[in-house]
Amino acid sequence: MALVQCEELTIAYEGQVVVRDLSFQIHPGDYLCIVGENGSGKSTLVKSLLGLKAPLKGRIVLGDGLKQKEIGYLPQQTDVQKDFPASVQEVVLSGRLNSRGMKPFYTSRDREQAKAMMGLLGIEGLNRSCFRDLSGGQKQRVLLARALCATKKMLLLDEPVTGLDPLVTAEFYQLIKEVNQRSGIAVVMVSHDIESAVRDASHILHLQETALFYGKAEEYRESLVGRMFLERTKAPGEMAGGSQEPAGNAEITGGGMPAYTETSEKRGTDFD
Ligand code: ADP
Repeated sequence: MALVQCEELTIAYEGQVVVRDLSFQIHPGDYLCIVGENGSGKSTLVKSLLGLKAPLKGRIVLGDGLKQKEIGYLPQQTDVQKDFPASVQEVVLSGRLNSRGMKPFYTSRDREQAKAMMGLLGIEGLNRSCFRDLSGGQKQRVLLARALCATKKMLLLDEPVTGLDPLVTAEFYQLIKEVNQRSGIAVVMVSHDIESAVRDASHILHLQETALFYGKAEEYRESLVGRMFLERTKAPGEMAGGSQEPAGNAEITGGGMPAYTETSEKRGTDFD
Protein backbone atom coordinates (compact mmCIF):
# COMPACT_ATOMS: atom_id res chain seq x y z
CA MET A 1 0.00 0.00 0.00
CA ALA A 2 1.28 3.47 -0.87
CA LEU A 3 2.35 5.77 1.96
CA VAL A 4 1.20 8.73 -0.11
CA GLN A 5 -1.04 8.74 -3.13
CA CYS A 6 -1.50 12.05 -4.94
CA GLU A 7 -4.50 11.95 -7.23
CA GLU A 8 -4.94 14.63 -9.92
CA LEU A 9 -3.70 17.29 -7.59
CA THR A 10 -4.21 20.93 -8.54
CA ILE A 11 -2.82 23.60 -6.19
CA ALA A 12 -3.31 27.34 -6.57
CA TYR A 13 -2.56 30.64 -4.86
CA GLU A 14 -5.57 32.95 -5.01
CA GLY A 15 -6.92 31.18 -8.07
CA GLN A 16 -3.54 31.11 -9.86
CA VAL A 17 -2.76 27.45 -10.56
CA VAL A 18 0.88 26.51 -9.88
CA VAL A 19 0.53 22.68 -9.78
CA ARG A 20 -1.89 20.99 -12.16
CA ASP A 21 -3.34 17.46 -12.47
CA LEU A 22 -0.45 15.85 -10.65
CA SER A 23 -0.62 12.13 -9.82
CA PHE A 24 2.11 10.02 -8.25
CA GLN A 25 2.69 7.65 -5.32
CA ILE A 26 5.29 7.19 -2.63
CA HIS A 27 5.75 3.64 -1.35
CA PRO A 28 7.53 2.42 1.80
CA GLY A 29 11.28 2.44 1.18
CA ASP A 30 11.09 4.70 -1.90
CA TYR A 31 13.64 7.45 -2.42
CA LEU A 32 11.85 10.04 -4.52
CA CYS A 33 13.62 13.14 -5.79
CA ILE A 34 11.47 16.03 -6.93
CA VAL A 35 13.34 18.08 -9.54
CA GLY A 36 12.44 20.97 -11.82
CA GLU A 37 13.21 24.58 -12.63
CA ASN A 38 12.74 27.38 -10.10
CA GLY A 39 9.07 28.25 -9.80
CA SER A 40 7.89 24.86 -11.07
CA GLY A 41 5.83 24.16 -7.93
CA LYS A 42 8.17 21.95 -5.87
CA SER A 43 7.90 23.85 -2.56
CA THR A 44 4.17 24.29 -3.04
CA LEU A 45 3.81 20.52 -3.44
CA VAL A 46 5.86 20.05 -0.25
CA LYS A 47 3.46 22.37 1.61
CA SER A 48 0.50 20.30 0.45
CA LEU A 49 2.20 17.03 1.42
CA LEU A 50 2.67 18.48 4.90
CA GLY A 51 -0.98 19.57 5.06
CA LEU A 52 -0.08 23.27 5.07
CA LYS A 53 -1.71 24.09 1.73
CA ALA A 54 -5.02 22.54 0.74
CA PRO A 55 -5.29 21.48 -2.91
CA LEU A 56 -7.82 23.24 -5.13
CA LYS A 57 -8.70 19.91 -6.75
CA GLY A 58 -7.69 16.30 -6.35
CA ARG A 59 -6.54 14.71 -3.13
CA ILE A 60 -3.62 13.37 -1.14
CA VAL A 61 -4.36 9.98 0.42
CA LEU A 62 -2.05 8.76 3.18
CA GLY A 63 -1.75 5.01 3.71
CA ASP A 64 0.14 2.39 5.70
CA GLY A 65 -0.70 4.20 8.95
CA LEU A 66 1.17 7.39 7.99
CA LYS A 67 -0.16 10.59 9.54
CA GLN A 68 0.71 14.04 8.21
CA LYS A 69 2.22 15.12 11.53
CA GLU A 70 4.46 12.04 11.49
CA ILE A 71 6.31 13.10 8.35
CA GLY A 72 9.87 14.04 9.34
CA TYR A 73 10.48 17.39 7.69
CA LEU A 74 13.80 19.10 7.05
CA PRO A 75 12.93 22.57 5.68
CA GLN A 76 14.98 24.83 3.47
CA GLN A 77 17.32 26.70 5.77
CA THR A 78 16.53 30.32 6.47
CA ASP A 79 18.86 32.79 8.17
CA VAL A 80 16.57 32.79 11.20
CA GLN A 81 16.90 29.01 11.57
CA LYS A 82 20.68 29.19 11.15
CA ASP A 83 20.87 31.59 14.11
CA PHE A 84 18.52 29.66 16.35
CA PRO A 85 19.76 30.17 19.94
CA ALA A 86 19.05 26.66 21.28
CA SER A 87 21.26 23.73 22.18
CA VAL A 88 21.64 20.84 19.77
CA GLN A 89 19.76 18.60 22.20
CA GLU A 90 16.81 20.99 22.33
CA VAL A 91 16.66 21.25 18.54
CA VAL A 92 16.71 17.45 18.11
CA LEU A 93 14.13 16.94 20.88
CA SER A 94 11.78 19.43 19.23
CA GLY A 95 11.27 16.77 16.54
CA ARG A 96 9.15 14.97 19.16
CA LEU A 97 6.79 17.95 19.61
CA ASN A 98 4.15 16.80 17.14
CA SER A 99 3.82 13.33 18.61
CA ARG A 100 3.79 14.64 22.19
CA GLY A 101 0.15 15.71 21.99
CA MET A 102 -1.00 17.70 25.02
CA LYS A 103 1.79 16.51 27.32
CA PRO A 104 3.62 19.57 28.68
CA PHE A 105 7.05 17.92 29.09
CA TYR A 106 9.23 15.61 27.05
CA THR A 107 9.10 12.03 28.27
CA SER A 108 12.12 9.85 28.95
CA ARG A 109 11.21 8.01 25.74
CA ASP A 110 11.45 11.31 23.80
CA ARG A 111 14.90 11.89 25.30
CA GLU A 112 16.02 8.35 24.54
CA GLN A 113 14.93 8.69 20.95
CA ALA A 114 16.69 12.04 20.54
CA LYS A 115 19.85 10.48 21.98
CA ALA A 116 19.58 7.48 19.68
CA MET A 117 19.18 9.68 16.60
CA MET A 118 22.16 11.85 17.58
CA GLY A 119 24.17 8.66 18.05
CA LEU A 120 23.04 7.34 14.67
CA LEU A 121 24.17 10.51 12.93
CA GLY A 122 27.44 10.82 14.84
CA ILE A 123 26.60 14.10 16.61
CA GLU A 124 26.09 12.93 20.20
CA GLY A 125 29.24 14.83 21.22
CA LEU A 126 27.59 18.09 20.16
CA ASN A 127 24.47 17.77 22.31
CA ARG A 128 25.30 20.69 24.61
CA SER A 129 26.64 22.92 21.84
CA CYS A 130 24.67 25.90 20.65
CA PHE A 131 23.03 25.18 17.31
CA ARG A 132 23.94 28.55 15.80
CA ASP A 133 27.66 27.97 16.47
CA LEU A 134 27.80 24.80 14.35
CA SER A 135 29.15 24.51 10.83
CA GLY A 136 26.68 24.10 7.97
CA GLY A 137 27.22 20.34 7.73
CA GLN A 138 26.78 19.85 11.47
CA LYS A 139 23.57 21.91 11.42
CA GLN A 140 22.12 19.71 8.69
CA ARG A 141 22.95 16.56 10.68
CA VAL A 142 21.19 18.06 13.69
CA LEU A 143 18.13 18.95 11.62
CA LEU A 144 18.15 15.47 10.09
CA ALA A 145 18.24 13.94 13.59
CA ARG A 146 15.30 16.21 14.50
CA ALA A 147 13.34 15.06 11.44
CA LEU A 148 14.11 11.41 12.24
CA CYS A 149 12.73 11.93 15.76
CA ALA A 150 9.41 12.85 14.18
CA THR A 151 8.99 9.82 11.93
CA LYS A 152 9.27 6.11 11.47
CA LYS A 153 8.04 6.11 7.90
CA MET A 154 8.86 9.15 5.77
CA LEU A 155 11.38 11.99 5.56
CA LEU A 156 10.65 15.09 3.50
CA LEU A 157 13.73 17.19 2.71
CA ASP A 158 13.55 20.52 0.88
CA GLU A 159 16.89 21.27 -0.80
CA PRO A 160 18.89 20.09 2.21
CA VAL A 161 22.39 20.71 0.82
CA THR A 162 21.99 24.36 -0.18
CA GLY A 163 25.08 26.27 0.95
CA LEU A 164 27.13 23.18 1.86
CA ASP A 165 30.52 22.62 0.24
CA PRO A 166 30.89 19.69 -2.19
CA LEU A 167 32.55 17.28 0.24
CA VAL A 168 30.01 17.87 3.02
CA THR A 169 27.25 17.64 0.42
CA ALA A 170 28.53 14.22 -0.68
CA GLU A 171 28.62 13.08 2.96
CA PHE A 172 25.10 14.28 3.55
CA TYR A 173 23.78 12.47 0.46
CA GLN A 174 25.50 9.29 1.64
CA LEU A 175 23.88 9.68 5.04
CA ILE A 176 20.40 10.02 3.51
CA LYS A 177 21.01 6.94 1.36
CA GLU A 178 22.08 4.94 4.41
CA VAL A 179 19.02 6.04 6.39
CA ASN A 180 16.80 5.04 3.48
CA GLN A 181 18.46 1.69 2.84
CA ARG A 182 19.01 0.58 6.43
CA SER A 183 15.80 1.75 8.05
CA GLY A 184 13.46 1.53 5.07
CA ILE A 185 12.23 5.06 5.79
CA ALA A 186 10.90 6.57 2.58
CA VAL A 187 12.80 9.69 1.50
CA VAL A 188 11.26 12.52 -0.50
CA MET A 189 13.78 15.18 -1.44
CA VAL A 190 13.41 18.38 -3.41
CA SER A 191 16.72 18.79 -5.18
CA HIS A 192 18.47 21.04 -7.65
CA ASP A 193 21.30 18.54 -7.93
CA ILE A 194 19.99 16.41 -10.74
CA GLU A 195 23.13 14.23 -11.13
CA SER A 196 23.01 13.19 -7.48
CA ALA A 197 19.25 12.76 -7.64
CA VAL A 198 19.50 10.30 -10.53
CA ARG A 199 22.39 8.50 -8.83
CA ASP A 200 20.77 8.04 -5.41
CA ALA A 201 17.00 8.11 -5.87
CA SER A 202 14.80 5.17 -6.77
CA HIS A 203 12.22 7.45 -8.39
CA ILE A 204 12.16 10.90 -9.99
CA LEU A 205 9.30 13.35 -10.23
CA HIS A 206 10.18 16.11 -12.69
CA LEU A 207 7.76 18.92 -12.08
CA GLN A 208 6.86 21.74 -14.43
CA GLU A 209 3.45 22.68 -13.08
CA THR A 210 2.51 19.09 -13.87
CA ALA A 211 4.64 15.91 -14.05
CA LEU A 212 6.95 16.03 -17.06
CA PHE A 213 8.22 12.67 -15.79
CA TYR A 214 7.36 10.39 -12.92
CA GLY A 215 8.95 6.95 -12.68
CA LYS A 216 12.11 5.04 -11.92
CA ALA A 217 15.37 6.98 -11.79
CA GLU A 218 17.10 4.76 -14.37
CA GLU A 219 14.21 5.32 -16.78
CA TYR A 220 14.42 9.06 -16.20
CA ARG A 221 18.11 9.03 -17.16
CA GLU A 222 17.18 7.47 -20.51
CA SER A 223 14.10 9.61 -21.11
CA LEU A 224 14.12 12.63 -23.40
CA VAL A 225 13.18 15.03 -20.60
CA GLY A 226 15.78 13.49 -18.30
CA ARG A 227 18.58 13.63 -20.85
CA MET A 228 17.79 17.23 -21.72
CA PHE A 229 17.60 18.35 -18.07
CA LEU A 230 20.78 16.48 -17.14
CA GLU A 231 22.66 18.06 -20.05
CA ARG A 232 21.39 21.55 -19.22
CA THR A 233 22.27 21.40 -15.56
CA LYS A 234 25.82 20.12 -16.07
CA ALA A 235 28.61 22.47 -15.12
CA PRO A 236 30.36 23.88 -18.25
CA GLY A 237 33.50 21.80 -17.56
CA GLU A 238 31.51 18.57 -17.62
CA MET A 239 29.91 19.14 -21.00
CA ALA A 240 32.69 17.43 -22.94
CA GLY A 241 32.38 14.14 -21.08
CA GLY A 242 34.15 15.18 -17.88
CA SER A 243 33.88 13.27 -14.63
CA GLN A 244 30.43 12.92 -13.15
CA GLU A 245 31.60 11.44 -9.89
CA PRO A 246 30.29 13.21 -6.81
CA ALA A 247 32.81 15.48 -5.17
CA GLY A 248 34.62 13.79 -2.31
CA ASN A 249 34.03 10.50 -0.60
CA ALA A 250 31.99 10.00 2.49
CA GLU A 251 33.79 7.98 5.08
CA ILE A 252 31.81 4.92 6.17
CA THR A 253 32.61 3.68 9.61
CA GLY A 254 32.25 0.08 10.76
CA GLY A 255 28.64 -0.77 10.05
CA GLY A 256 27.40 2.70 10.98
CA MET A 257 26.48 5.87 9.20
CA PRO A 258 29.03 8.01 7.34
CA ALA A 259 31.08 9.78 9.95
CA TYR A 260 31.25 13.50 10.22
CA THR A 261 34.80 14.27 9.11
CA GLU A 262 36.44 17.29 10.64
CA THR A 263 38.56 17.79 7.56
CA SER A 264 35.56 17.93 5.28
CA GLU A 265 34.65 21.49 6.07
CA LYS A 266 36.01 24.40 7.98
CA ARG A 267 34.66 24.47 11.49
CA GLY A 268 33.18 27.75 12.52
CA THR A 269 33.71 27.06 16.21
CA ASP A 270 35.67 24.83 18.52
CA PHE A 271 33.69 22.80 20.98
CA ASP A 272 36.46 21.98 23.42
P1 ADP B 1 9.72 25.96 -6.67
O1 ADP B 1 9.76 25.42 -5.28
O2 ADP B 1 9.73 24.89 -7.72
O3 ADP B 1 10.76 27.02 -6.93
P2 ADP B 1 7.29 27.26 -5.77
O4 ADP B 1 6.35 26.20 -5.35
O5 ADP B 1 8.01 28.03 -4.72
O6 ADP B 1 8.29 26.68 -6.87
O7 ADP B 1 6.48 28.33 -6.63
C1 ADP B 1 5.61 27.95 -7.71
C2 ADP B 1 4.89 29.20 -8.16
O8 ADP B 1 4.02 29.64 -7.13
C3 ADP B 1 5.81 30.36 -8.50
O9 ADP B 1 5.29 31.04 -9.63
C4 ADP B 1 5.73 31.23 -7.27
O10 ADP B 1 5.92 32.58 -7.59
C5 ADP B 1 4.29 30.99 -6.81
N1 ADP B 1 4.16 31.12 -5.35
C6 ADP B 1 4.88 30.47 -4.41
N2 ADP B 1 4.47 30.80 -3.16
C7 ADP B 1 3.46 31.69 -3.33
C8 ADP B 1 2.60 32.42 -2.44
N3 ADP B 1 2.72 32.26 -1.10
N4 ADP B 1 1.67 33.23 -2.98
C9 ADP B 1 1.54 33.38 -4.30
N5 ADP B 1 2.30 32.71 -5.21
C10 ADP B 1 3.25 31.90 -4.74
